[in-house]
Amino acid sequence: MITASHAARLSPPAADWRTLWREAVTDPHELLALLGLEQLASRLPADDAGFSVRVPRGFVARMRQGDPLDPLLLQVLPQLAELDQVPGYGVDAVGDMAARSAQGVLHKYQGRALLIASGSCAINCRYCFRRHFPYGDEMAAAGQWRKALEHVRQDSSISELILSGGDPLSLATAKLEELSRGLAEISHVTRLRIHTRLPVVLPERVDEAFGRWLGELPLQKVVVLHANHANEFDASVDAACARLREAGATVLNQSVLLRGINDDADTLTQLSERLFAADVLPYYLHQLDRVQGAAHFEVDDAEALALVEAIRQRLPGYLVPKLVREVGGEASKRPL
Ligand SMILES: *Cc1c(COP(=O)(O)O)cnc(C)c1O
Ligand code: SF4
Repeated sequence: MITASHAARLSPPAADWRTLWREAVTDPHELLALLGLEQLASRLPADDAGFSVRVPRGFVARMRQGDPLDPLLLQVLPQLAELDQVPGYGVDAVGDMAARSAQGVLHKYQGRALLIASGSCAINCRYCFRRHFPYGDEMAAAGQWRKALEHVRQDSSISELILSGGDPLSLATAKLEELSRGLAEISHVTRLRIHTRLPVVLPERVDEAFGRWLGELPLQKVVVLHANHANEFDASVDAACARLREAGATVLNQSVLLRGINDDADTLTQLSERLFAADVLPYYLHQLDRVQGAAHFEVDDAEALALVEAIRQRLPGYLVPKLVREVGGEASKRPL
């Protein structure tokens, strides 16, 4: 018999990440209401320009109440400025179409192949190139991994496989297990890198089963997170980062430099300090990819360089991210 005192000692079941995923906020009016910002409704674009609102409730909880300029809110709230047509901003900003070498594989750089493992994300970031990418045709996981892995198998120069997307952690762990079984037969791949925003926006995704899968992979493991502001971190994100490290992963972070969100030296300094508090090292600070609908987020190169110079004077060298731009057709990300 379970007595009241016995029941109290049982910890509540951890929320399943798929449930939390499904319960994300997808209505911009609800998002504004949750933050006490109903008055901003008149500034929403009439339609979502083909890229809907999506934000997990745990991430909304890290936004400040009543602040229309909250740096987390600005990453997900549609703006009228998205409808502006700005010269130089296209739908394939970084030449992904030209780099496609097999279904779902982007092979741009020596030694590294990137698999578009999934087209889904738990959050829709307004500045993202993903707004326009034809994921329907390009998902490695849509059918199976077979074609993508066949490409990797046939090119022994590939030592690092990068899972990207979309967000590869949107896949069920069972699907990732299929991938690792296929990878086990390709001896020239010695590193697996995962680019994911899920440990930040839906940290419950890094659950026990995922930790076990990662921990048992007989490869070197790198996880590159994506956080743009210190406020994106809380204890649940710290716990997810700790679990990734316990599974043997090196954990890094990449950010995008975003106008009005993290384009000042104090904010970037706090971000690096907060990352390190979670045992995460900053890797890249990206200049925005010039995708249609995102021009209002751009920070020009001169200002970006001055910002990085300013944080270099305040932070230890290992907390200063590399400022880069992705340029289609080049052999690496371009340092500024
Ligand atoms: C960014 C990227 C990589 C990784 O580049 P690193 O400089 O090693 O982080 C690999 N492949 C593709 C297609 C990329 O876009
Ligand atoms: S790919 Fe990354 S930046 Fe783009 S919407 Fe998904 S989580 Fe956001």
